[in-house]
Amino acid sequence: MAYHTGDRPASVWENRKRFLSIWGLIPEQIIAGKQIHGIGVHPVDSLDLGRGSRQGTAIPDCDALISKSSDVVLAAFSADCLLVYLADVYRGAIAIIHAGWKGLLKEIIGEVIEAFTRELGGKPKSTLAAISPGICFDCFEIGEDVAAAFRNKGWSKFLSPQNNYSHHRYLLNLEEVCRLQLENAGLFQSNIQVSGYCTRCYPDYFYSHRRDGEKTGRMMGFISLKG
Ligand SMILES: [Zn+2]
Repeated sequence: MAYHTGDRPASVWENRKRFLSIWGLIPEQIIAGKQIHGIGVHPVDSLDLGRGSRQGTAIPDCDALISKSSDVVLAAFSADCLLVYLADVYRGAIAIIHAGWKGLLKEIIGEVIEAFTRELGGKPKSTLAAISPGICFDCFEIGEDVAAAFRNKGWSKFLSPQNNYSHHRYLLNLEEVCRLQLENAGLFQSNIQVSGYCTRCYPDYFYSHRRDGEKTGRMMGFISLKG
């Protein structure tokens, strides 16, 4: 579904077209960012249509999109990283977030919810969140340096030492770090839905960067308001 991993652009376009047609949407409606594992949040509306729909047009430095426009399809791509969807249904405000360990370490969720509140008038107490499939706790091994960075944030409870075959290796629970940040930003626990599927554990369903390497495909997630 993404252009940046070497698939033929015409095939990517066709895949997006088939996928979106299920909801009566078209690939021209896609707005997407060039994801850099940063914390760039971009408010977009119908004037931004086309940014990210064709190869080379994605919004630079953009790991999150927010909008109140009913004709846009906010899209993001992943193959192990989490995608987080937000919707304040009362105010018609939506967001999509690409959140891997780097983005979560930089607290991207709080950053997006702040922009969502400031720019769109979204309210955390009436916002629903969904967390996509992503790499699970058992599959996501990290080194001492990354573990130390999470420990320094006070998040050691999301780490577990991996002592089977190697010292100084840890497992990291990305999904729970994500949930904590949503709750810290003011969302109700009961308004957070988690897929629970692991991208690495289910090769028949998902691409996984950890399992398949750099050149694997990308899933697309999107969120859109009903017009
Ligand atoms: Zn797994």
